[in-house]
This record gives sequence, C-alpha cells and structure tokens, in this order.
Amino acid sequence: MHLYCFDDFRLGAGVGTDDLVDITALIPAAVPPADRMRTLIAGWSTWRLAAERAIRTEPGRRLAEVTLRAPLPAPRVILAAPVNYRRHQAEMGGANGVYADTVVHGIDTYAGFVKASSSIIGPNLAVRLPFPDRRFDYEGEVGVVIGKTASRVPRERALEHVFGYIPLLDITMRGPEDRSYRKSFDTFTPVGPAVVTADVVNDPADIALELTVNGQLRQRANTHDLIYDIAQLIEFYSATITLEPGDLIATGTPEGVGAIQPGDAIVLTLRDIGRLEMNVGVGAQVPSP
Ligand code: MN
Repeated sequence: MHLYCFDDFRLGAGVGTDDLVDITALIPAAVPPADRMRTLIAGWSTWRLAAERAIRTEPGRRLAEVTLRAPLPAPRVILAAPVNYRRHQAEMGGANGVYADTVVHGIDTYAGFVKASSSIIGPNLAVRLPFPDRRFDYEGEVGVVIGKTASRVPRERALEHVFGYIPLLDITMRGPEDRSYRKSFDTFTPVGPAVVTADVVNDPADIALELTVNGQLRQRANTHDLIYDIAQLIEFYSATITLEPGDLIATGTPEGVGAIQPGDAIVLTLRDIGRLEMNVGVGAQVPSP
C-alpha cells in the first residue's frame, strides 16, 4: 500500500501511484495533524484492514488534485548511513573525487550521523541552496521507515521492524564541516511521494535506484551493493539507539553523486516504491562558513 500525507496533513492510501482515498478518519481526532502518519504506522495492525477496505470501497482522488506533503512531516529521528557503497567510497577519495586529497573510509569507520528532522520537505518542492559559493550535491537513497520499537535487534529479526520504504534525497554541502551540519539545512531531506509498506517490496536487498538531473542519468544502483544492508543497519543502530515507529533511516547513496545548481530538476526513482521529483532553487542567501 502507498500511504500519503496531503493538503492539511490528511492521510491518503492507494495501491498504485495515480490516486488515493482519504483515510484521515481512521485516526483519532485528538491526534495532532502532523502526528497522524506516525500514529497510523504505530497502530498499523489495528488500522490496516480498514485502510484496505477504504481503498476497495471509497471514491478515489487523483494525486494531481491534491497537494502532497512529506509523508513523514516530522520524524522523531533521521539516522543516516555514511559511505555505504564501495564504489561511492572510491569516487569520493579517487583522483577526481570531492575529497581527493584525503582517505575516505566506509561506514565501518564513520558509523552514522543524524540529519535534523527540520530538513524534511515533501515532493514537487524546491531544495534551497543557501550559499552561492559552495558545492551542493544530490544523494539518492532508499529510506527505511521503522514500524515497531527496535532496541538491540539482531539482523535476523531486523526486517520485522520495518514498516516500509520511501524515496529519500540526502542533499549535502561538500566541505570540512560536520556531516550533521552540512546535511541538515532547511529543505535538505526531500522524501516522498509515499511511504510504501514493506509487503510491496519483494526483497529489500534488491531495490533498484535511479536518479536523473535534467533528464540525464546520474545514479543507477541496487541495494544488493550496500556495505551494511538494511537488516545490518537496523541491528547496528538499534544496538545503541532505540528506534520507534515512524523513525527514518537513510541507507546511503551509491556512486554517481554530483553537484546541483539552481534551476536543476532532480528525479529519484526506487523500483516499486516511487518517483520523487524536486527542483533546485536559491535559498535565503547568507554568508558561507
Ligand atoms: Mn547520504
């Protein structure tokens, strides 16, 4: 099932990518609108059948008729995997790499970082670049949405804690600053258009990813090339950080990263999961560090 957040934080559900039915009424009215999706995820075993029935029986609305928001407008935590594909590690430290004069390690060294939840934006909006004189890159990634509280979960049981998957862009400023700063600016975590429930994905170790900029193919990869696969990431992070329903893991970007400029159009496609389209614009121009 594809789950959407639209208009004034209403919840939508659909089986395809063309239309949705409004399932907002499933969630108690006392729940703050921005918490509706997290509430739905946490209580999915209660509401799944009602959502499936609504899709079968309620009139649908075309996606084009609504204003889609980020399906997870305010995740509690966004954990992110640094350098989790070997060919991306090689390109960053290679002769033409962004960090060519330094040794670039992998996730086994860097472990993880946190992106500010405030950096989330929904589909079809603009990523805003704040500095005219710094390099900014796209990073196409598979986002994992946690479905059940996960603390010290072994990898064999990790996928039981996954609610679903979502296209995610980890927009990044290159440079010496800490990752959590360079990747947390407003608009730097586009997600959507839908959270897709885990049952839609046959094998999370075989998710195909493609990213284009202005129609040119820049990234083509598959999660079977992850250094720490999705189950390992959950095992690794949940060993020290309790993950809760609605928390988000950015699994890392493959090779092919590159710079973006105002006016660019980015399209990230995850097979069976969705197609996230974003534009690049100019943000509030402030002095660069
Ligand atoms: Mn990344």
